[in-house]
Amino acid sequence: MLQIKNIAKKYVTGDLTQTALDNVSLNFRDNEFVAVLGPSGSGKTTLLNIVGGLDRYDDGDLVINSISTKKYKDRDWDAYRNHTIGFVFQSYNLIPHQSVLSNVELALTISGISKSERKRRAKDALGKVGLGDQLHKRPNQMSGGQMQRVAIARALVNDPDILLADEPTGALDSETSVQVMELLKEVAKDRLVIMVTHNPELADEYANRIVKLKDGKIINDSNPFDIDNSTVATPEHKKMGKTSMSFLTALSLSLNNLKTKKARTILTAFAGSIGIIGIALILALSNGVNAYIDNIQKDTLSTYPISIAKESIDMTSMMSSMMSSNNKDGISHDLDKV
Ligand code: ADP
Ligand code: MG
Repeated sequence: MLQIKNIAKKYVTGDLTQTALDNVSLNFRDNEFVAVLGPSGSGKTTLLNIVGGLDRYDDGDLVINSISTKKYKDRDWDAYRNHTIGFVFQSYNLIPHQSVLSNVELALTISGISKSERKRRAKDALGKVGLGDQLHKRPNQMSGGQMQRVAIARALVNDPDILLADEPTGALDSETSVQVMELLKEVAKDRLVIMVTHNPELADEYANRIVKLKDGKIINDSNPFDIDNSTVATPEHKKMGKTSMSFLTALSLSLNNLKTKKARTILTAFAGSIGIIGIALILALSNGVNAYIDNIQKDTLSTYPISIAKESIDMTSMMSSMMSSNNKDGISHDLDKV
């Protein structure tokens, strides 16, 4: 059972504060097909994102199977999104370079399930949406309706308790819309499906409950679910399951990604190696030139050796030479006198 209790959400952008949800309370049965209708900007997507754990509420509480999400940490939200919720978007959000089978399988990789089991479950889910024979196509080789069915298979492969769909038929023609709605109705037989739609006719025809939103408030609920709060266990905080990807899975996913974009990978590797080789070349050149200059210096200097020898001064000879010159002067003076 999913309960939304007095949830409020405001978006602040610059000076503008927009109230997306204004004190919304709703209880959902475990097993129903709810359509959320309302004009654009009435808070439908915000409501769905909050229920799906893609966005956080400012105030109030979201209670899932008597577990309050108030104290959820990031990893609890991860586990909640991974195990309890399946999401279907208007724009499919499939990975274009992966096959249909890999797209569905990918939703299981972070659940830590073995490869063969993942494949089996993905095939099973695709079979259920009527695409068992198109496993190896790429999403861009399919029609819009088929792509949305792949997205539904991806949302269901984890066997979530709750399936959320934001305008799943928004980009489809009326005939394919009907196919997708039939499928969602089938899905809603054993789980809760909450679907946002712009199309009141489809909602009337397929959903068992229609909730109308306007300006972030519920203005109408065709089949409200009132619970006596005194009989419901008080919400508690519990740990969710594990969400992790094994190292090998992560490695093989990255390798797969590299393989699908061969040209880009080769080009990046080439460009990277040019850079590395360039730096190595410049380093080698500068080292070589330095070594060359050192060598030249050594060679040149060795041909002109500078030798510093010890020198001594012979004081006696200096004195005697000075004396003798003095004597000569004396003789010449004497000659002048004569
Ligand atoms: P709906 O899906 O019914 O068209 P939304 O839930 O997307 O409406 O939006 C409700 C209101 O919240 C709108 O006024 C919208 O402009 C505003 N809003 C939604 N998302 C954001 C966001 N990320 N940042 C700011 N404002 C937002
Ligand atoms: Mg919307």
